[in-house]
Amino acid sequence: MPRRATYKCPRCGSRDIVPIKYGYPSWEMQDDRALGKIKLGGCGIRIDPMDRYCNDCEHEWRKTDNYKKLK
Ligand SMILES: [Zn+2]
Repeated sequence: MPRRATYKCPRCGSRDIVPIKYGYPSWEMQDDRALGKIKLGGCGIRIDPMDRYCNDCEHEWRKTDNYKKLK
């Protein structure tokens, strides 16, 4: 049984969270996007990319932000 991510959207509290994938999208990534499993972040190289996306309110953030709040 796969482990379910327990991330919640910091803005709306939704659990409908998907990872943001960067780089040129492969066919597999496009399939995943069509199924709502990932969000494509584009090909641009970013120094500090967001890697979590909320399907409900379209908020983007970094998962490491969650860890900072625990400190
Ligand atoms: Zn949200």
